[in-house]
Amino acid sequence: MKATLEAQEVSPQGYSLAAGSNVADITPEYLRSLLNGQKTAFMAEGAPAYETRIDRTNRLIALLVDNQDKIVSALNADYGHRSAEASLLTDVWSVIDNYKYTKLHLREWMQTEIHEAMFADAEARVEYVPKGVVGVVGSWNFPWRLAFAPVGYVFAAGNRCMVKPSELTPATSALMAELAGQYFDETELAVVQGGPEIGAAFTALPFDHLIFTGSAKVGSAVMRAASFNLTPVTLELGGKSPALIGKSADIGDAARRILTAKTFNAGQICLAPDYVLLPNGLERQFVGEAKSAVASMYPKLQDNPDYTSIINERHFNRLKNWIADAEAKGAEVIELNPASEDLSDVASHRIAPMLLLKVTDAMTVLQEEIFGPVLPIVTYETIEEAIAFINKHTHPLALYYFSHDAEEERKVLDRTTSGGVTVNDCMTHAFDNSLPFGGIGPSGIGAYHGRQGFLTFSHARAIYRQSKSPQAELLFRPPFGEPIRAFLSSSITK
Ligand code: NAD
Repeated sequence: MKATLEAQEVSPQGYSLAAGSNVADITPEYLRSLLNGQKTAFMAEGAPAYETRIDRTNRLIALLVDNQDKIVSALNADYGHRSAEASLLTDVWSVIDNYKYTKLHLREWMQTEIHEAMFADAEARVEYVPKGVVGVVGSWNFPWRLAFAPVGYVFAAGNRCMVKPSELTPATSALMAELAGQYFDETELAVVQGGPEIGAAFTALPFDHLIFTGSAKVGSAVMRAASFNLTPVTLELGGKSPALIGKSADIGDAARRILTAKTFNAGQICLAPDYVLLPNGLERQFVGEAKSAVASMYPKLQDNPDYTSIINERHFNRLKNWIADAEAKGAEVIELNPASEDLSDVASHRIAPMLLLKVTDAMTVLQEEIFGPVLPIVTYETIEEAIAFINKHTHPLALYYFSHDAEEERKVLDRTTSGGVTVNDCMTHAFDNSLPFGGIGPSGIGAYHGRQGFLTFSHARAIYRQSKSPQAELLFRPPFGEPIRAFLSSSITK
């Protein structure tokens, strides 16, 4: 669909949708017509049967399985270079794994819950009903996972879905739109491409639920846009997730696991360990272990197919500037570049994993989410000091704690707050389908994955069938006489 924007338009939250912006294909009118088409189809169908939901899930699986090579190529084109295996793991397999888990559990999730009613012959139950049409706004770092994992739960809960992926992965977004059109009617699933202006118009639509994955700043704008329609939102944001290494930890094991997470997708992961909290005096040991870990995973970096590039020049320069800022303010920068290669070629957007020692709060790397293979190391004396450091910052999306000290682990869990926790590894809690995934406050609002995904996109509808007992009717009906007064005085008790 090719169209141009008509004259000046301003969305309720004030974003200009002016002609001549980078909106290429989509108009606000077109978005509204898509939404209306989906709403009409949803109302005509009613809550879809289990079989319809399974059919939609099977088509999602087929879309990913049949087109895995195209998906890998498009991601590679978008990144400059992206590891094929990493793409298959995160953007194909992990999404299919979600769908298969859903298929195993959907019947049980859809069950009506029978509750104990107020009166013996009354009925009280909760039916998990679809909300209607759900909008999904995705990010670029795992474009399929962050758009299509939500779509799976949106369908499981019986809804229709509109998706807006990121403009930073144009080849992937175009493929997503094309494949959605091949496997689904646009009243079931529609993918619209575009940047922030389209994002603003999209999130201003009166969806029945909106799930957004991206930065806290844009998340806040999305929440404002949704508030005009009182659309419920799930915000999957990011932040600075700490990796806290306790004194009882195996430093080699911790370093290997932290560096595995920090170098996967070149650290461009919302859940990547953002910085390390390390007991004082263990810096050199950690650096040595980190060096061997990187050398064993990536003996070379420049032409290594397993090592992913930074998404674009803007983010490449951002990371370079933040490293320079830290160095200028006194940080010791340790490049983990096993073959001592020259990585200065800007066009390939590759940055070697970097450890930063002697960091301070004045450095950008300790203020902003890093989203790249750069790992500041903050040292601490006591566990209380480490906990205080974490709590000085906004609640992170994840906390990683490495230790074999159960008492200290309990203390860390009880005195910190984060979206989720993995103990003795990084990120794994997000890949266990039995667990909800989401942040808290500035790292996110709401959660999905597994049953929580089904619940997030369902409405828990309370249904009560009245008792035939005359008491049930008479309780609230005047004139209020002695029986009611006796009931009240015998019930309002401590
Ligand atoms: P971003 O906020 O810049 O963009 C996200 C999406 O929002 C894109 O599709 C973009 O086009 C759209 N958008 C931009 N401006 C908009 C507006 N005004 N209104 C509506 N939509 C708009 O984020 P990003 O650079 O794509 O992603 C990086 C951030 O996402 C990091 O903070 C990272 O931690 C976070 N993230 C979180 C998760 C998670 O699951 N919690 C996963 C991946 C990334």
